[in-house]
Amino acid sequence: LTILGIESSCDDTAAAVVRGVAGTATILSNVIFGQTEAHADFGGVVPEIAARAHAEKIDHAIEDALAVANVSLSQIDAIAVTAGPGLIGGVLSGVMCAKGLSAATGLPLIGVNHLAGHALTPQLTDGIAFPYLMLLVSGGHCQFLLVQDHDKYTRLGGTIDDAPGEAFDKTARILGLPQPGGPAVEHAAKNGEPHAFALPRPLLGRDDCNMSFSGLKTAVLRARDDVITKNGGLPLAARADLCASFQAAVTDVLVGKSRKALMAARAISPDVNTIAVAGGVAANGAIRHALKELCAETETVFVAPPLALCTDNAAMIAYAGLLRLTAGMTDDLTLSARPRWPLDQTSPTLLGSGK
Ligand code: ATP
Ligand code: FE
Repeated sequence: LTILGIESSCDDTAAAVVRGVAGTATILSNVIFGQTEAHADFGGVVPEIAARAHAEKIDHAIEDALAVANVSLSQIDAIAVTAGPGLIGGVLSGVMCAKGLSAATGLPLIGVNHLAGHALTPQLTDGIAFPYLMLLVSGGHCQFLLVQDHDKYTRLGGTIDDAPGEAFDKTARILGLPQPGGPAVEHAAKNGEPHAFALPRPLLGRDDCNMSFSGLKTAVLRARDDVITKNGGLPLAARADLCASFQAAVTDVLVGKSRKALMAARAISPDVNTIAVAGGVAANGAIRHALKELCAETETVFVAPPLALCTDNAAMIAYAGLLRLTAGMTDDLTLSARPRWPLDQTSPTLLGSGK
């Protein structure tokens, strides 16, 4: 099977071609047009700018993806598109474009949940079998998912406020470091002492798999102000210590809760023996290292897809579409774009739009 994937739910316009069967598929092309510059002056993604940029770039992304893959539309078996969750303007651009292509070519149309795309990536990259535990940690998401099949997910817990990527970005802002904050904080932390500041590990003592990161960034702000009051400024060494202490707190929470999530996953499906990560925060070396240690200790396999496939891309959407097509789950032209779409409800057409 050869699937064209389209992704436009946030600030990347992406198209990709994936070929193969469930469990062994190859990425023939994976084209991404970012919008970082378009939003740079606004300190975040501006939905109207994002929607316009998607509409402008999406045809181009698809043409490039087909050209790089060296396939024509006539060699494609289905068109998979992110139908949510995400910024509605962006999701709509993708869905309308996919519907147009489907109507013009007669190819099957498949609406994919963006989070399912992330959750299925470790199978695309590493061929791992179901069931597995997935930790999705990005700028906008933080959750533990038990992945039992391409359309069977159980959310075991997640953040009750900020996502860790957001906390990294805010911490960088508080400490005068550039955006995106994750890499900047990680880099600065290399020269710091992780125990220098006693920052909180919110909810870590609780038995559930929920997490909280907003208090942590407030604690960083307070610690920074204390340092400034005492020193009349923020010395580089103190900044490095704050970065290292912040990163250690996030790592402790993610690893401690991963341990609990593994137990919760095994209570539902005893043969879970893999922990996979996805999302931009999975790029963090300290977090990866600590998760690897947890896996060694619990005799679990650790899988971290290459970074380009951990963050938003269309190859994951094409692969999720391939699995849905294989299961005979296609959509028709009534497919709607859904700003919110919990992963445990996987069929976009059946459920219509809404929460
Ligand atoms: P989503 O895809 O959930 O809507 P997003 O597009 O913001 O959100 P990603 O592109 O997956 O998410 O990841 C970006 C986030 O990852 C940013 O918040 C960034 O700071 C963080 N990040 C990137 N590299 C690192 C790193 N080395 N350490 C920690 N965080 C990082
Ligand atoms: Fe994403």
